[in-house]
Amino acid sequence: MTQPRRIKVKGLATPDNVLVIGSVAYDSIVTPHETGERILGGSASYACLAASYFAPPHIVGVVGHDFRDRDRKKLAKRGIDLSGLQLDETGRTFAWRGRYHENYNRRDTEDLQLNVFERFQPRLTELQQAMPYVMLGNIRPDLQLAVLNQLTAPKFVLVDTIDIWIETQREKLSEVMRRSDLLVVNDSEAAKLTGQTNVIVAGQHLRQHGCRTVIIKKGEHGAVLFHEEGLFTLPAFPVTELRDPTGAGDSFAGALLGYLAAAGKTDFASLRQAMVYGTAVASLTVEAFSTDRLAKSGCTEIKNRRKELLKMTKA
Ligand code: AMP
Repeated sequence: MTQPRRIKVKGLATPDNVLVIGSVAYDSIVTPHETGERILGGSASYACLAASYFAPPHIVGVVGHDFRDRDRKKLAKRGIDLSGLQLDETGRTFAWRGRYHENYNRRDTEDLQLNVFERFQPRLTELQQAMPYVMLGNIRPDLQLAVLNQLTAPKFVLVDTIDIWIETQREKLSEVMRRSDLLVVNDSEAAKLTGQTNVIVAGQHLRQHGCRTVIIKKGEHGAVLFHEEGLFTLPAFPVTELRDPTGAGDSFAGALLGYLAAAGKTDFASLRQAMVYGTAVASLTVEAFSTDRLAKSGCTEIKNRRKELLKMTKA
């Protein structure tokens, strides 16, 4: 497997492994200015690419007979282990169609075809079961649970979700949240989960009734971390070339977890640092359609954005 360049962070001599379950998708995206048809997307694709700048990611998911070789290569080129990406020849790859509105802050899901995910059963190898850093990316909560049940030595489990699973698999999702270390959701999902529209109140509520530690993302307004040691807020990186916000959340979460796996620590201070890297990586994702910008970004570019963000937030 190719060994791609990684960002050296203070921490472990060799970064720990990151296991990611989530969707690998063909997205059709409509923005007010452009459209993209059947382009590579999915929570696991974005998260693994983002994590690959810090630690070795291992993907768990499924694709169908229509999955393109060039997309497989795109993931492999960043050193992502694809041995857990099953190929189901009997069906098509998960497909999602989303439309963004004028200010890009709101999007509607216009179509969602689970396709091969409908029959997918994650089966982890012994090596995968023992992986310490795990992202339960956005996918059906029963699949997230199936992965959680197979883990033998998790150090840190991050869970992400989306409106549809809050509406249709609430109980399973609650169990996943209770058994995870960090919940990462956006403000509308947090409101849906708690019935609270105030981000601070929703975050506190989620910590008491959901997950030990919570991050609520607020799109272009940044993110808030709710931790037992306190609260931390970070603005988004000021992007002027916004083209397609798809995958920003997954990139944020993937980079965050990748950083923790490289640092070997998950305390409050490390989480704050991880958020700065997550924010820097997410800002690159949104500057192009699909995973194009993310897959091609250099470590220097990410480090520069992190530096700028630190400078910008220092009073
Ligand atoms: P984000 O913009 O970070 O929320 O991630 C968007 C990605 O999530 C897209 O590439 C979609 O393919 C994928 N996606 C959208 N809806 C779902 C869903 N219900 N389950 C799994 N993946 C999804």
